[in-house]
Amino acid sequence: MAARSCRESKVSILGAGNVGSALAQRLIQGNVVDVVLLDIVEGRPQGIALDLLEACGVEGQACRLTGTNDYARTAGSDVLVVAAGFARQPGMSRDDLLLTNTHIVFEVTQKAVAHSPEATVVVITNPLDAMSHVAWRASGLVPERVMGMAGVLDAARFETFIAWELGFSVRDIRAMVLGGHGDLMVPLPRYTTISGVPLTQLLSAARIDALIERTRTGGAEIVHLLKRGGACYAPAAAAARMIETLLGDERRLLPVAAYLGGEYGLRDIHMGVPVILGRHGVERVVELTLETEEKAALYRSAHTIRASLDQIAHLMPANQPPSTV
Ligand code: NAD
Repeated sequence: MAARSCRESKVSILGAGNVGSALAQRLIQGNVVDVVLLDIVEGRPQGIALDLLEACGVEGQACRLTGTNDYARTAGSDVLVVAAGFARQPGMSRDDLLLTNTHIVFEVTQKAVAHSPEATVVVITNPLDAMSHVAWRASGLVPERVMGMAGVLDAARFETFIAWELGFSVRDIRAMVLGGHGDLMVPLPRYTTISGVPLTQLLSAARIDALIERTRTGGAEIVHLLKRGGACYAPAAAAARMIETLLGDERRLLPVAAYLGGEYGLRDIHMGVPVILGRHGVERVVELTLETEEKAALYRSAHTIRASLDQIAHLMPANQPPSTV
């Protein structure tokens, strides 16, 4: 990705569902980038684009947004966002989507990267960590360029629940969540602070555990309330944060599902870890010092991602040698 200002950049969102269209709205109304919204369903991305462009008209903004079913229109994208695929219904786990979404993510990523070989890929489709790995395999890109969005969202959920519990502003709360985007995700109270004050000094272990549990099931809580569909506004906000960080070469430390080539003792897997995000994608994986219990929780989470990857191994081409930026 060239070092260009956000306004000169192009982001293509693949999948114009709840999350894809919420992200398109956030990006164009923030006047952040030019956006292409693509979907397999004819008329859907075009209709959403028309509606959003008319909203820009109300606000007097000159937004550039294209709705399309044609991958050629995504050509030259700086960032490709993969939000195509099935979302879970009440009672389903993210892993129930594994086989169907593997096919969709593989196809969509391969087609889009063919038109944007310089792009960085941000995956949103669930099960997130496995789908990030599938997208990487499909893309043929260096691993640093293909990552998944989950940690920013999971940390924001944890931060929100902490703010409500303490009655403090959410602005000063910084949480860290590692591991897979599933029930075994690993929120880390030791690395969670309120303006530098460790959370562990402000809340009892029992209250922290309750907030961790609510964070782990945060997505399911919304699916259960909605009955149809899932969260879209917070996921879109989290993806937009990552996209702005990438395009602006901001080098922020954020938790993302990144390729691990030995970090944390794990290899050839995508999983949520803190990274430095910049214009090359994942510029560096930051290795935190973990206590025995934290490490064990991380490996339990990694184990389930590995099991998912084993289930879909036959659907993907032979492993590529990981290259560097
Ligand atoms: P949705 O059903 O509203 O939208 C999915 C869209 O993908 C639909 O418009 C569908 O037509 C499209 N699609 C399906 N197959 C396609 C293909 N081959 N090519 C192009 N488009 C295709 O779902 P949603 O609520 O927008 O969620 C999308 C995905 O994101 C789901 O897998 C969901 O579980 C996941 N998700 C992840 C997070 C996260 O934190 N990573 C958060 C929310 C949702």
